[in-house]
Amino acid sequence: MAETENFTLKGKKILIVEDEEGNYDLLRIILKKYKPEIVWAQDGGQAIKRFKEQSFDLILMDLQLPVINGLEATREIKKIDSNIPIIAQTAYAMTEDRQKALNAGCDDYIAKPMKRLHLIEIIQKHIAQ
Ligand code: MN
Repeated sequence: MAETENFTLKGKKILIVEDEEGNYDLLRIILKKYKPEIVWAQDGGQAIKRFKEQSFDLILMDLQLPVINGLEATREIKKIDSNIPIIAQTAYAMTEDRQKALNAGCDDYIAKPMKRLHLIEIIQKHIAQ
């Protein structure tokens, strides 16, 4: 599988869109050793706002969010920049959720609960080096 030993996210900026603080903390802790800059958005509306204000290298998008859900936020963000990699975080191993995420414009998906290596491999696959 992917080589994670020398992998770094230093100088990369990741937008984590997640309404549950515990889930956000888990992602932040997993990513910490790779040293990305992380911005947290707690709902889909905030995600769109942050994306308009700043540039990012990758977005980790929860689907079930208050205000504007992850699918809608993905559609809006992809209208602004179709090249930004968006990885959907699907709550269950649900094929339907995955298909909806891809249809909305997500580039990939990862099922919760996150497995550290899988998350890093997916980020590595989609982030521009
Ligand atoms: Mn959620």
